[in-house]
Amino acid sequence: MFNWLKTKRRERALTTYALPDDEWNAALNELPFLDHYTPEVLARLRDLTTLFLVEKSIVSGATSGEHAFEVTPHVRILIGVQASLLILGRGATVAEAMRDYDGWENVVVYPGDFPRTHDFEDEAGVVHRSAEPIAGESWEGGPVLLSWPAVEAGYDETGMALVIHEFAHKIDMLDGAVNGLPPLLASERAAFRDAIDVAYAHFCGCVDRNLDTAIDPYAAESIDEFFAVTCEVFFAEPELLLLEYPAYFAQLQSYFRVDPIAGHLVPQ
Ligand SMILES: [Zn+2]
Repeated sequence: MFNWLKTKRRERALTTYALPDDEWNAALNELPFLDHYTPEVLARLRDLTTLFLVEKSIVSGATSGEHAFEVTPHVRILIGVQASLLILGRGATVAEAMRDYDGWENVVVYPGDFPRTHDFEDEAGVVHRSAEPIAGESWEGGPVLLSWPAVEAGYDETGMALVIHEFAHKIDMLDGAVNGLPPLLASERAAFRDAIDVAYAHFCGCVDRNLDTAIDPYAAESIDEFFAVTCEVFFAEPELLLLEYPAYFAQLQSYFRVDPIAGHLVPQ
């Protein structure tokens, strides 16, 4: 019953808060990897972005001082559209797809890299807080934090998209474990895990041997970072990921239910 009411409310929001054409088109212009999606897919993406912006608060992490950052409508749409891309194929309707982002509310945007706010545990179970400033962070059940210059820097580098990276961590956390696996049916899990394990082992081998990798070597940091970085590549430079790791690419395609090369949704 609760889900039914929520779906109805979401459907109503779509007509009440439609995004203006000029603002939507300006955002698409900055994201060339969306160019080849069909008009139907882009219309669905626009609806989902609308819902995302109705339900999530995108707020500034620095509201005063010389480095104050203003969250403009353009900033909001750029974040909303890239976050929405990850859940675009994940429901029969966009209202249903939004369920993957239930349970948290805020995106905080900073004018630059920011101190890590979250402790992390290493493999030996020791808890650390790194002093090194970071460009993005994603909390389980909490906010997504982004450095705006780092978001914009990605547009000049093919295959890099910080917003997609941080929301990929959100997707990874959906099943309660941060392990590079999105929420999967039991029947799907083994094939996905095999494909990501093989790709990750190969990639770490290349990085260990100091080979020049087309994918950001940061992906060798851990399996969850590999998942987040390769989600960026899957959406922002899909031909590259298909070429490097075709079996893993196929698993991502079947999870996201999006063919990012042909630019259409993959039927369930
Ligand atoms: Zn990450």
